[in-house]
Amino acid sequence: MGMTGAEKMRSINEYAFDLLTLGVLWQTYMSQAKAIVPWRGRLLRRLVRARMESERLKPAADRIRARFGADWLAAGDPFPAPAGLPTLKDMDRLLLWLAASGEFVQEAERLSLCRQYLERQPLHTVRSLLQTALTEADWFKSQAAEALGSYTPGVDAYRQQKSSGDQRREDALLRDRHQVEYHLNLFGAELMNRAYRSDYSGTAAKAVLLPVCLKARSGADCAANRAGDPHRCLQCSKECRVSQAVSLGEQEGFEVIMISHESDAFSRSLIDRLIRENTGIVGVACALNLVSGGLRAKAMGIPAQCVILDYCGCGQHWDDGGGFPTDLNLSKLKKIVNQEI
Ligand code: SF4
Repeated sequence: MGMTGAEKMRSINEYAFDLLTLGVLWQTYMSQAKAIVPWRGRLLRRLVRARMESERLKPAADRIRARFGADWLAAGDPFPAPAGLPTLKDMDRLLLWLAASGEFVQEAERLSLCRQYLERQPLHTVRSLLQTALTEADWFKSQAAEALGSYTPGVDAYRQQKSSGDQRREDALLRDRHQVEYHLNLFGAELMNRAYRSDYSGTAAKAVLLPVCLKARSGADCAANRAGDPHRCLQCSKECRVSQAVSLGEQEGFEVIMISHESDAFSRSLIDRLIRENTGIVGVACALNLVSGGLRAKAMGIPAQCVILDYCGCGQHWDDGGGFPTDLNLSKLKKIVNQEI
């Protein structure tokens, strides 16, 4: 892709990860991708763009996606047996489905660049690369289950116990992601931390982006909310992990910014300030957001590292009981911020 002039050349590991991502998503979703009616896919893709570009349109876009998205995206069985040789036409269907789902916006953009690269290659090279992606995905699935399965034992049970009401949720697909996708994110996060390390280390200042699900208190019980500045912790509780991260930041010289949604983390005003101040970021996120967050930071020109939350717990997506505070390994955070690794 770097060779096509579409972007500045990335490392071989990043391109290998693109290929692995293609293979894993192909193995996981191709059956649904082949079953989607193209105009429905294009409409959903447009709604995904609308919700990303306009806060005003987001509620309406999400209502329509919740009403139709699950049915339109979910025909077909996951993990189908690969049938015949993979083709670029199949890849186009997959890319449409990924973009329409709203779950894979960054991945779909990366894979669109792969698509551009492949269309300039002879047919035998295209087939060989697509076949390699599928073979690598098979290999990764079994190896990762062995190496990382002990960190994700609850995924299948969580997917099974979800209420049938999920089918009308905007985030139904997020809650139904497969174990191999968690593993892909864990692996990708480590790979991207290594790939982005030297750019990050070269920045003059550091900022840590913490999700609000780490807060010990919610609503008006959190002083930051009461003060009307939900991005800046006022340390009203010593037990709160955000407050502890702020204290660590004072010792180690990094800023802490609370993020209530991905769109906060990548708001133009925040990104422009961080770039202007030559700041590298450490994003803290749950497993399924690690790769997309890293890809988005890279695309926006922000040198980034990431740290995974110990578990998911927000009421917005994961816990039907209203949510509970999540947690973070502060010594791991310190090591990543200071690159003591
Ligand atoms: S310590 Fe900070 S983030 Fe935690 S509840 Fe208080 S103001 Fe909110």
